[in-house]
Amino acid sequence: MTGLLYVVSGPSGAGKSTLIKNALNSLNGFSFSVSYTTRAKREGEIDGKDYFFVSLETFMKMRENNEFLEWAKVHGNYYATSKSFVERSLQECKGVVLDVDVQGALNIKSRYPKATYIFILPPSPKDLEERLKKRGTETEDSIETRLKDAESEISQIDIFDYILVNYEILEATKQLMSVLVTQQLKKENFKERDFNFSFFKKGVMF
Ligand code: 5GP
Repeated sequence: MTGLLYVVSGPSGAGKSTLIKNALNSLNGFSFSVSYTTRAKREGEIDGKDYFFVSLETFMKMRENNEFLEWAKVHGNYYATSKSFVERSLQECKGVVLDVDVQGALNIKSRYPKATYIFILPPSPKDLEERLKKRGTETEDSIETRLKDAESEISQIDIFDYILVNYEILEATKQLMSVLVTQQLKKENFKERDFNFSFFKKGVMF
């Protein structure tokens, strides 16, 4: 395995998917893991790009067939990460980024303790509520569920390695890019992937 695994989590409405999209548009060699969900498609979402939108029956069949790295029921719908996509991307890419809820992050941590865990916070609860309302994609009920769930998600913040507060999208994108790149440059990761150190072995160089 050569690539690094990044797990991005945080309350719904904190801006995770926008930040990930922006960061990956500006970096080479990273891939985003498109999740499976039973949630209804929102206006503007593209099947296969934002999610693979599947029926509950298909989801359960895939779950039985062990096709998921992790799965969770989040805000009343099912979501899951494709096992084969992540395993393949870890062989082929520098980094694979997942956008999952905190249950998903915890599940992945038991399997990939060395992955990088990143939590995105909104500036305040008021701000979170405003963003969810402004997005215009959720019903009143769904907004309420998401705000209630945010509390328990934030209570798990300690399992994460990096915490970003999304005050402003460009600044937060830069911060996320820094985290993705910093992990790549860590001595133990750098050595394996980016450079043939044998060039500099004594007796080889000159
Ligand atoms: P949304 O419905 O707003 O797109 O996503 C709701 C929540 O589901 C978000 O917190 C998102 O991170 C989470 N989510 C998306 N994909 C997955 C997944 O594959 N697994 C898990 N556990 N959570 C996911």
